[in-house]
Amino acid sequence: RNVGVEHEALGMDMISSGTPALEVTDIHKHFGGTDVLKGVSLTARDGDVISIIGSSGSGKSTFLRCINLLEHPNRGSIRVAGEEMKLKPGKDGALEAADAKQITRLRAEIGFVFQNFNLWSHMTILENVIEAPIHVLGLSRAEAVERAEALLEKVGISERRHVYPAQISGGQKQRAAIARALAMRPKVLLFDEPTSALDPELVSEVLAVMRKLADEGTTMLVVTHEMGFAREVSSKVVFLHQGRIEEEGAPAQVFQNPTSDRCRQFLASHL
Ligand code: ADP
Ligand code: MG
Repeated sequence: RNVGVEHEALGMDMISSGTPALEVTDIHKHFGGTDVLKGVSLTARDGDVISIIGSSGSGKSTFLRCINLLEHPNRGSIRVAGEEMKLKPGKDGALEAADAKQITRLRAEIGFVFQNFNLWSHMTILENVIEAPIHVLGLSRAEAVERAEALLEKVGISERRHVYPAQISGGQKQRAAIARALAMRPKVLLFDEPTSALDPELVSEVLAVMRKLADEGTTMLVVTHEMGFAREVSSKVVFLHQGRIEEEGAPAQVFQNPTSDRCRQFLASHL
């Protein structure tokens, strides 16, 4: 008996039967005359951790922001758990949400963690985490608090829950921002360079939380310059270059045997 082949067949079966958590197809974006994204497609299945790497200006943030329409793509389609986002051309010709109710719901299913945390400074950490579950999901305050406290415990800052963002470190702010995103129970979590605004000694505590989430099967897209994280934690690595996917594959393949010279050069200067 060839157990390896059987396992592979089983794996293929599971893969082909599941609806991807996120399916982004042929995203184009230009700012004025500058083409920033030239047809980027990406599929994240449940439990995938996809690291997106690439030089500054290659379009990584624009791509992530297009996925939840923080930026309006000029072309392309987005499906969340099989549901296609309804889009229509806006005044500037770029695609915007065609259905306000749908976009509110789909945005709730796409968590976003920003480089600069974007916590609400006039709210305590706990209030930051319960805000959207109460006002978007319709949870009672008691339910939202219970959910938030469990998440703040999980990211290791529950003892700081009644203070304001200004009173805690960058690492704690980012962990709070992760708890806030998780409180919506998103289908997929997007991270845009979550550790690049942090003092070096605070990076590891945020990466540790992200590793824990990955181990638990959280579906994640992570724009990062942390090559150790990309190599060790990702199921897939995508190298973006001038608005196109220049290389993608399993981390071992991309890091040890990239087919693209540009990817090779990028890695050589970032490892
Ligand atoms: P990355 O995150 O990979 O560093 P970005 O997506 O932020 O790259 O930017 C890609 C390119 O798009 C850059 O040249 C940047 O200057 C340009 N860009 C991004 N946002 C805007 C904007 N709102 N208006 C004009 N140009 C933009
Ligand atoms: Mg960026």
